[in-house]
Order: sequence, then structure tokens, then C-alpha cells
Amino acid sequence: MYDPKSSKAEEFINHEEILESLEYANANKGNKELIEGILDKANRAKGLTHREAAILLECEDEELIDRMFKMAEDIKKRFYGNRIVMFAPLYLSNYCINGCVYCPYHLKNKTIARKKLTQEEIKREVIALQDLGHKRLALETGEDPKNNPLEYILESIKTIYSIKHKNGAIRRVNVNIAATTVEDYRKLKEAGIGTYILFQETYNKESYEKLHPTGPKHDYAYHTEAHDRAMEGGIDDVGLGVLYGLSTYKYELVGILMHAEHLEARFGVGPHTISVPRLRPAEDIDVSDFPDALSDEIFQKIVAIIRLAVPYTGMIVSTRESQKTREKVLHLGVSQISGASSTSVGGYADRAEGISEEVTSAQFDVDDDRTLDEVVNWLLDMNYIPSFCTACYREGRTGDRFMSLCKSGQIANCCQPNALMTLKEYLEDYASDNTKQVGEELISKEVKKIPKDKVRNIVEERLVKISNGERDFR
Ligand code: SAM
Repeated sequence: MYDPKSSKAEEFINHEEILESLEYANANKGNKELIEGILDKANRAKGLTHREAAILLECEDEELIDRMFKMAEDIKKRFYGNRIVMFAPLYLSNYCINGCVYCPYHLKNKTIARKKLTQEEIKREVIALQDLGHKRLALETGEDPKNNPLEYILESIKTIYSIKHKNGAIRRVNVNIAATTVEDYRKLKEAGIGTYILFQETYNKESYEKLHPTGPKHDYAYHTEAHDRAMEGGIDDVGLGVLYGLSTYKYELVGILMHAEHLEARFGVGPHTISVPRLRPAEDIDVSDFPDALSDEIFQKIVAIIRLAVPYTGMIVSTRESQKTREKVLHLGVSQISGASSTSVGGYADRAEGISEEVTSAQFDVDDDRTLDEVVNWLLDMNYIPSFCTACYREGRTGDRFMSLCKSGQIANCCQPNALMTLKEYLEDYASDNTKQVGEELISKEVKKIPKDKVRNIVEERLVKISNGERDFR
């Protein structure tokens, strides 16, 4: 029997319940009254169960879908304002002993250039990232206990946090490494990581085992229960994700929402983020081998439904998506994006030195290869505030403390000011003339909207101080 206080994720996210939810949803896809009731609930920002979300996913009524999209946009504005958090992935090593059939890191790939950064190379890489203006990183590695043991990851995190270069210290390191033990998660927590991110890839166990035929990642239960172990190890911000295109999307959406429900039931706090990656072409990978590719329309519907189902959970879209798609899903609920990403080991320093990415070791092809300044400029143009803020995590506002900040509507007095101040730093230190001008205009408009007089006055003072060279207000 599933006990929310002690059971693990795999018991809850069970195949029978997913199939039943999908069947029930299919039988009710024309039930307008039921769908309208679900939309009313979503509009009150109460979130949705996996069963309710499945019904929205099945709904084909254009008018209702339109309402769904508008509601997702509105909820996003209510809880996140117009901030978009910026980050970059940092690939440390592509050595891997797994056999994932969709990933070029797989053990049998003999053509990819295998690389693992030394601590000196990590410094070069981090300096290149800091020179772009990045403050938040997501560490990425393959799984290889000999080449990339946890000690290597811990040492790398220490190196990253220690590099002070011009105005640019990295202030938050999130980690996306293979499932590991409670003990290892505890060590990652002690090393000061932000969110621990692990993608499920697919919740369908049968597909999962075929897609991961060999290596430690083959163990579905161990992988699915990783976030439970991370939380037991003290990491209270965890990130979920499915790699869309590997299996059928309806199954995946129900699966990921059940995972979120389980974490909320067991630990009192749901996932900090949900990522929505889609499969991309890569070295040694032929995407036509995967028949479940997701259309742009369905992709947008999934983003909107996730936003309605878990209104307080951040949603991440990477440079796997094109500018056009990113623009669409930003409106529908995405709250974090990467920019100027390299998926190669050593790719940022190489790029800064003019070395072509083709001779490097990319994980997959990105579909948005704009510079960070171009991405920031584009966001400003759409009236979004690109935010390099890391204050919550550094002030200990993680897990349920962060969620209660969201739920109590304090974003406008807390996150919005921090976003403006970190944007101001970016404009002073890294932006092109045009980006600086557009950004300054947005800041002066947005600062006036801060509701509390006292907070507004402090922010105005600090913005002047940032112009005069002071940094890193929290
Ligand atoms: N090794 C870690 C693990 O086992 O979870 C994760 C690191 S891997 C660098 C990060 C993610 O890249 C994977 O979880 C997978 O979803 C994604 N990925 C792998 N191959 C991909 C491809 N061809 N296109 C898009 N994303 C891919």
C-alpha cells in the first residue's frame, strides 16, 4: 500500500493508474462541463491533479484550448510577474558508461571526442561564462564512476564558486548528474548546490528499459526514486523532466504530474522546477529512429497544462528549442531559460578563443545559438525582465520556504526587485549599447511598480549604487 510519508516515487507513479487516467480522459474529452470545471479550478491557482490535467490534454475544442492558453499566461504573470531567470549549462565530462540509445555519450559511441575538464580548464570555462554575464550554472556530466566520481564533481563545484573574475562570480550551481545515493546527495548539499535536476527521460518502464539497455541507468526504480533520495539527503530543491520524443507524450505528462504529487505528499514540497526538453539530433543519433516526436502545437499545450497543474513550479526551456518556439512557450508559462549555451565539454572557452564547435564534443545540436546579449535584448523587447538573481537560494529560501513566498504573493516585493538589480548589474558590466538603453528604460518603468514604498526606495538607492560600481545586493 502506498504510504505518502514513507513510500517512494515508483510505487505511486504506477502504470495502471497512468493508463486508467488516460482512458478516463479519453472518455471525457468532449465533456465540456467537466473541462470548464477543471479550468475554473486552475484559474483559482489551485493546481490540477494528474487526472484533471490528462482531460485537458485530450480536449480538442479550439475555444477551450484557447482559454487554457490564456489562463496559463495569466497564471504565469500572477506568480512570476515578467521575470525570466537566465542560466547556462556547463559540461564537465562526457565520459559515460551507460547505453542510452538517444544520447551520443553512450558507451559504444567510438566517434565522439571524449573529454573531461581539469580544474584548470574549469577555471577557463567559468571565466568565459562570467565574461558573458552568467551567474547561474547547471553542471552536466555523463555517468562514469571512474572518470567522473562524486569527488570530482565536488571539487569542481568548489573551484567554480572560488573563481572571482572582474565583476562575475558564479552565484548558484545547479547539478544535473546521474542518480546517486543519499550519502552523495548529502555531500552535494554540503557543497552548496542549488537545485538537483534529473530527467526521468520516460515514465514508461517498458520503454525506459529499452532506451537504457545497459549501464547503471538501466535500473528504472533506482532512477525514478533519485529525487526521494536527494530530498532525504537534505536537498530540498529538485528538478524533474521528461525527454519528449522518446515515448508517448500523454503517458509522460501524467507520469511527471504524479511524480510532482508524490514529492508534495511525501516531503511537503513539490518539484522546484520542471524541464521540458525535446529530443534533438546529435552525433551518432538519428532522430528518425524515434517515432514519438512532438509537434510544436502539442509542445505548447503541454507547457500550458503544466503551468496550470503546478502554478508555483518553475518551468525550464533550453536552447534545444528555436527562438520562435521559446517565444511561444515563454508566454505560456516558462520561467527559466538558458542562453548562449554550449553543449560541448570546454565549449565556452573554445568559443571565446575562436575555436569552432565542430571539432569539439557537443551533446546535441542547439536550435538557438544567439549570444547572451541577443537573448537579453530579445527578452527586454518583449517586456520581460531577464533575471540573474540567486538571492533566495543564498538566503536559505529554498524548498517550502520558497514555495510559501510564491504562494503569499510576495514575488512583487521580493523577486521583482532582485531581478531588476541583477539586470542592472548585467547592463553595467556586459550589455551592448542598445541592450543597455532598452534595459534601463525597462528598469525605470518596472521600479515604479514595486508595491511597498519602503522596498521601492531601497531598490532605487541600490540601483544608483550599482551604477557607481557596487555589486551583489541581496
Ligand atoms: N548523465 C545524467 C543522467 O544520466 O541523467 C544527465 C546529464 S545529460 C548531460 C542531460 C540530459 O540530456 C539527459 O537527461 C537527457 O534527457 C538529455 N539528452 C540526452 N541526449 C539528448 C538528445 N539527443 N537531445 C536532447 N537531449 C538529450
